[in-house]
Amino acid sequence: MTATAIRPTHTMSSAGRVDGNGVDLIAAEAAVSDLLVALGQDLDDPQTRATPRRVACAYAELLTPATFSPTTFPNDEGYDEMVVARDIPFSSLCQHHLLPFKGVAHVGYLPGDRILGLSKLARVVDMFAARLQVQERLTQQIANWLQAELDPHAVGVVLEAEHLCMSVRGVRARGASTVTSALLGRLRDDPRSRQEFFRLVDISR
Ligand code: ZN
Repeated sequence: MTATAIRPTHTMSSAGRVDGNGVDLIAAEAAVSDLLVALGQDLDDPQTRATPRRVACAYAELLTPATFSPTTFPNDEGYDEMVVARDIPFSSLCQHHLLPFKGVAHVGYLPGDRILGLSKLARVVDMFAARLQVQERLTQQIANWLQAELDPHAVGVVLEAEHLCMSVRGVRARGASTVTSALLGRLRDDPRSRQEFFRLVDISR
């Protein structure tokens, strides 16, 4: 199946304008204008005039992950304790409301034969956060990626986030944070390893 068959109007109206991430800024700007008008907003207001373009650019940015090369290294030192990166800031877009959710990720793994540069853990979080997401899936995707790339003995991922769709609308649960976790390998099977991981992550502080 071709892209034309999947998104006929998009492709027909904007051939050549779609970037590598599927973003068509001109079509997005027009769509935001339509949305604002449909919501009863005044596009002639000088403060609003450039808003469709700004919104289109902002969403394009939020949905475009930074490129990174996931270089792994042999675990020559035979390091066999958990590697944990704590409090990695992240933000993502709620798939259901297009509103941001943001918080911190704690990502750890128990190395096998391969290790990953520490800064890359934050890159992995960013890569999966820069798309429409639900927090549970984001957590699982980060864990699954580490499992697939490193084949470690264990993977643990904990995300704590505030969802604007919960805090500024609906139940207006300001400050409420949602915690999700994904545990693989030894962290799933061994209560003592799990306890150690959660002690390192220290989410109850
Ligand atoms: Zn939402």
